[in-house]
Amino acid sequence: MTEKSAKRIALSQPAKDWLWSESGGHCQNPDCRADLYGFAEQKHIGELAHIIPASMGGPRSAEEPELTGRERARPENVVVLCPTCHTVIDKVPEEYPADVLRGWKRRSQKARALAHGTPMFSSRLEARKFVEELLGANRAVFDLYGPLDDVFDDTRAEQWRRHVENTIIPNNQTLLRVLQVNRELLSRSEKATAQIFAVHAQELEERHLEGNWTPGSTRFPNAMESILEDKG
Ligand SMILES: [Zn+2]
Repeated sequence: MTEKSAKRIALSQPAKDWLWSESGGHCQNPDCRADLYGFAEQKHIGELAHIIPASMGGPRSAEEPELTGRERARPENVVVLCPTCHTVIDKVPEEYPADVLRGWKRRSQKARALAHGTPMFSSRLEARKFVEELLGANRAVFDLYGPLDDVFDDTRAEQWRRHVENTIIPNNQTLLRVLQVNRELLSRSEKATAQIFAVHAQELEERHLEGNWTPGSTRFPNAMESILEDKG
């Protein structure tokens, strides 16, 4: 791609809707979280800030010069900020590289899912039904593709990586949110199990999504398989 291909393309209305929804109406800088709608009816102060600028020459432009105009207009390349944070990230872009801003988006997505996208159950039975499905799906992937010492060739390793990213990590995130939101349904020992599971899930995510191989590799706690289960 040449620089000329990065023609400025405006964000579509669906992209904008997606972004406002993702932000939950708050600045996506985790150190700020200003309420973007709290000022006056029919008016908000939110700004849509490009991570890699819409056209060449702006802040962070040199980080990924190969991006096309269309890629720059995708919601993945835009962060929702209050006017102050927008000004700051563009005045000192070296302090706010693309990876940092993408991290802000991920945290904002997680916060929104925890607050608004997680079911609250009134009984252990209902909660168990919900978690059972996710645990079952993860177990199936592990049994089919998981790392086993004797048969872990490149093909299997590649499939495992793909399924971890597409199935296990999203399911783990949902499980963690459900356990957090429904914490009062858990016994004392189940709370401890959930904590070990959280460490395991976090490390798995760091390895696979952030390519950070330094954290430990806490194993999936077997007690998770029967969490919220009551022996009748
Ligand atoms: Zn802000």
